[in-house]
Amino acid sequence: MQYKLETEIGKAEVLIEAIPYIRRFAGSIVVVKYGGSAMIDEKLKKSVIQDIAMMKYIGLKPVVVHGGGKEITSLLDRLGKKSEFLDGLRVTDEETAKVAEMVLSGSIGKALVDELESVGISSVGISGKDGRMLLCSKKLDEKGRDLGFVGQIDTVDTSLLDTLLANNFVPVISPVGVDMQGNTYNINADYAASAIAGSLSAQKLIFLTDVEGILRDKDDPSTILRTLSREQALSFLADGTIKGGMIPKVQCCLDGLDKGVQSVHVLDGRLPHTILLEIFTAKGVGTMVTKEERT
Ligand code: ADP
Ligand code: MG
Repeated sequence: MQYKLETEIGKAEVLIEAIPYIRRFAGSIVVVKYGGSAMIDEKLKKSVIQDIAMMKYIGLKPVVVHGGGKEITSLLDRLGKKSEFLDGLRVTDEETAKVAEMVLSGSIGKALVDELESVGISSVGISGKDGRMLLCSKKLDEKGRDLGFVGQIDTVDTSLLDTLLANNFVPVISPVGVDMQGNTYNINADYAASAIAGSLSAQKLIFLTDVEGILRDKDDPSTILRTLSREQALSFLADGTIKGGMIPKVQCCLDGLDKGVQSVHVLDGRLPHTILLEIFTAKGVGTMVTKEERT
């Protein structure tokens, strides 16, 4: 009996410890890029949904931008189409862009809305096409190669998002955009998340991924960088320490900071409740990317 009471008091203490953070972040926009394993594993999916619900219930304004690379690849496989990537970006012909839109907007976005609604959170699934939110043009890669219908975001119109947030909805955004001619573009979800976070002047931009954070050696989790300055990031991009899908992610971290997002994090989506740990604990988790070097 006594023991049980102590446990209950312990729970109350955990809540009390969160008060300063709840105060500090009340009303703040937090953009979460949701992708990788955290989106596939059912248990982790539930933990991410609970974290988003918790943020919303205590007064933050979460905005979800989701990926879906693995699901797009698996539907393309079933259709007998091979997936090709150049430096972490998918080569996208017209058919691939259509499949990507089906998977992202039709399947993944709506499933996330279902999950959030099931825990009492009003949410709305939209893509960059709705309200012409993400106006795109063709993105050439760093080496000037044409990747097809891979969109580069030219403008973000936040009117629809502002309306949703003002009315207490959690927006769930599929990274699909459109150009002036009405062509559909697949956008790397990392780019969509940083462009949206910048346009909303978000407090935080969080990338959930399938590794511990940004690593000095991508195959050795013990080499996690707790903080990474712009200068270090640029040198790790240049010397190949940061590879593949981590390349656009790190570029997006820097881009978010440039656009005025207060703090940018790469977190391990395989860790349950990693978002809550980041927001409501002093130490934080994963890698924080900063403008200046921190000691
Ligand atoms: P997401 O679905 O989160 O966008 P990606 O596969 O696009 O996942 O990007 C994450 C991957 O980037 C990791 O699984 C890892 O293999 C790779 N990667 C390359 N270089 C690094 C690095 N220096 N630190 C961490 N991950 C890296
Ligand atoms: Mg990626």
